[in-house]
Amino acid sequence: MNNKSTYKYLLSDLSILKGVGVKTTTLLKKKKINNIFDLLWKLPKSYTDRTLSSKIKDLRIGINQTVTIIPHKYSFPRVKNLPNRVLCSDETGELDCIFFNSYEGYVKKILPIGKEITVSGKIGRFRDKYQLTNPKYISEDSSLIKQKHNTYSLTDGITEKVYNKIINQIIDKLPVLREWHSKNILNKFDNISWNDSIKELHKPENIGNYKKQFYQRLAYDEIFSTFLVNSEIRKKIKKIKKKNKILDLKKQKKIINNLNFTLTNDQIKTLKEINTDLCSSTKMFRLLQGDVGSGKTIVSLLSAFNTIHSGFQVAVMAPTEILARQHFNLAKKIYPKDLNIKLISGKLDYKEKKDILNKLSTHKIDIIFGTHAIFQNKVIFKKLGLIIIDEQHKFGVNQRKRLSDKGGDDCDVLLMTATPIPRTLTMTMYGDMDISIICEKPTNRKPIKTYSKLENKIDDIIKFIKKEIKSGNQIFWVCPLIEESKKLDHSSAIKKFEYLKKIFPNDVTLLHGKTKMEEKEKILNKFLNNEFKILVSTTIIEVGIDFPNANTIIIENANKFGLSQLHQLRGRVGRGAKESTCILMFKSNLSENAKKRINILKNSNDGFKISEEDMKLRGFGDILGFKQSGIKNFKLADPIHNIDLFLLAEKEIKRIENSNEDISKFKPLIKLYDRADIINDIA
Ligand code: ADP
Ligand code: MG
Repeated sequence: MNNKSTYKYLLSDLSILKGVGVKTTTLLKKKKINNIFDLLWKLPKSYTDRTLSSKIKDLRIGINQTVTIIPHKYSFPRVKNLPNRVLCSDETGELDCIFFNSYEGYVKKILPIGKEITVSGKIGRFRDKYQLTNPKYISEDSSLIKQKHNTYSLTDGITEKVYNKIINQIIDKLPVLREWHSKNILNKFDNISWNDSIKELHKPENIGNYKKQFYQRLAYDEIFSTFLVNSEIRKKIKKIKKKNKILDLKKQKKIINNLNFTLTNDQIKTLKEINTDLCSSTKMFRLLQGDVGSGKTIVSLLSAFNTIHSGFQVAVMAPTEILARQHFNLAKKIYPKDLNIKLISGKLDYKEKKDILNKLSTHKIDIIFGTHAIFQNKVIFKKLGLIIIDEQHKFGVNQRKRLSDKGGDDCDVLLMTATPIPRTLTMTMYGDMDISIICEKPTNRKPIKTYSKLENKIDDIIKFIKKEIKSGNQIFWVCPLIEESKKLDHSSAIKKFEYLKKIFPNDVTLLHGKTKMEEKEKILNKFLNNEFKILVSTTIIEVGIDFPNANTIIIENANKFGLSQLHQLRGRVGRGAKESTCILMFKSNLSENAKKRINILKNSNDGFKISEEDMKLRGFGDILGFKQSGIKNFKLADPIHNIDLFLLAEKEIKRIENSNEDISKFKPLIKLYDRADIINDIA
């Protein structure tokens, strides 16, 4: 086999394997295991050492052992919850095999009366008899006794025997791929090849050997492949020549001088970075990253203004209509009156919408605000020069690329995110973009006071709220997530709403997952206009919306949230100059570990620091639901534990970029590990 066909074998359908039928492939596909390569990452959890084979009389209790027995009687009680039992023996004694939740047919099939069978598992003793509950592996073939045998997590409904059979088959046939790494890199991993590394990975005695070279090499492969794809996209975008914008900084200054605050140093710095990109003759593809409330909007609106002044149109997209409207209102306030500013909203009737579309296509509108609706196919711009996308941390690299393509060559792209993540993750997720970071918050901010309270002290909280309302402030009340069930979330929010309504009859309003979009906008607008004092909600209120008058947030069952998420929720208050408070409610006293976590939040208001700590405590996949978002799911690599590998990959990518190295040798790596659709036209 040449190199090309060998890696292709790894991408083959599972059905080419022996012993894998439709049933097994269906089960595996449910687990997102679609081809042979995917199966390589199904790793053993533990193993049974079958070399510890024994006679019944020598069995040791509590230890995994293997024994060859002859079944001679079944006992299938018809009583619920009583296990099925098979009486077995060898020449030295008796042993019962016990089966919970197994069909009689299954038991009879694997333990046929009178046949010599080898069983294995943890030995117990009950009423003076040895017993083996749900024997882990059963074989008539005693030649298997001498092997160590992997134990897999079996939630998928596939037996261990099948897993072992499939995976051994793959490992036996594992192709030798031509090395893709440079000598220098390979040296760092003791020159272990990909093929050998995979073999080591599946050896039972290597379970959990994260520090060994084979593991490090495979983790590095993943990271490097991701970075390489990012780098290629980046290079491609950088090659795009555009008509540069010409800025009139005097006009920009006029707007800045009219603001009722002064820009922070970081706002000035990031604005300059963006302006430089706008003026350059290559396309901008930039991320503006900054914690909640760091003041990204004004920076983006200033760059939009500069773009408009160069004779281009701008599109600003927000995740919700209410946020789009807020940006729109701010633009109307700060821009000169002669600009043509519009909002595409769901409320517009057909005629109004048509009018906007018409004016966009004839450049009679300078800047348009809206949700994703502004990127529908029927929306045509005459001369789009900048796309601004706010709060879309769930945008994967594919979606970004598509958006960037849609704007056309002359269109710059600016993404904004308030999701502070550690650098290793930023490199992974946004490596295709240039990055501007706002660290510093506006100086008028007072830190949000964060307290924890037990649920049974709710009366204290009510007292506190009454006081705040009296001072003219507003309150968010976030209801718990119960076991991730939307239905229950919604009922708990309703209950709390009814409870609070008894105390504050005319001041409470409610939002939950089932509230209709239109209704939701109305409620939020009323809350913004101070018609209600308390907004009870599940976690559906998105980040980004500015509620200057709300200064208190109460978060129930706070231990259900990750620290970063709590920090984001907390960021809904404390955006103005007011003293603000966040009260975290707990059902019961906190464990030591939980206290540690909450203290991180109480002592810091720095989202980057909090997310880093959060990741150390919970693993990277869990923070802010990145795992669900499907942005990047490493199989082995870990942005906290493998920082050195991330840095090594970053350095190597820079070297490759600078030396203009031919990357076609990485094609198998990229094809196997990454987003093949992006890479099709690369190598
Ligand atoms: P985010 O970065 O979360 O999008 P916003 O842009 O919504 O933050 O800004 C949050 C609030 O801070 C807004 O009310 C905005 O007017 C205000 N703000 C922005 N920059 C400054 C500044 N330099 N000084 C004081 N307030 C500011
Ligand atoms: Mg924002």
